[in-house]
Amino acid sequence: MKRALFPGSFDPITNGHIEIIQRGLTLFDEIVVGIGLNTSKQPMFPPEQRLAWTEEAFRNEPRVQVRAYTGLTVRFAREIGARYILRGLRSAPDYEYERNIDLLNKYLDPEIETFYLMSSPATSFVSSTLVREVIRFHGHLEGLLPPHIIRDIYLTYPEGKPVASR
Ligand code: ADP
Repeated sequence: MKRALFPGSFDPITNGHIEIIQRGLTLFDEIVVGIGLNTSKQPMFPPEQRLAWTEEAFRNEPRVQVRAYTGLTVRFAREIGARYILRGLRSAPDYEYERNIDLLNKYLDPEIETFYLMSSPATSFVSSTLVREVIRFHGHLEGLLPPHIIRDIYLTYPEGKPVASR
């Protein structure tokens, strides 16, 4: 059974992440989405919210589980019995960043192999960082996030619902 860990901050999970997970399901039997809680980044959304949104996105997909974790990603991968890590690549800066993480992870645990999927043109411009800016400044979220997250954001911040053009 091939189980992969898809780690990240998912603050919030975007259509870009979702696409990588869906394509990852053609390679792996199970994917555990690992919401890392110990990055230096100050999150916009609390861990419970990120977890609930991610779980809801895969409510009808029993091969995807969602867990929050602290500590080293390779250690968490071992803990859940995942021999593989899945990551997405959008651009050259992503490659540079991922290369260093890959080397570090290999140093820490040479038996864990990381697989990379290139993002599609439709989502390669989507990042959680930019989506958070769109949320802050009340831009259109359709196409960037799954509908249930957009609905929750508009319910929480009704004044943030865009009324005019993009
Ligand atoms: P991090 O906090 O480490 O940057 P993220 O939570 O932003 O992680 O993302 C987790 C993984 O998803 C990373 O491998 C990242 O490159 C990938 N990813 C994020 N957005 C996209 C996208 N639009 N297309 C493909 N991969 C993506």
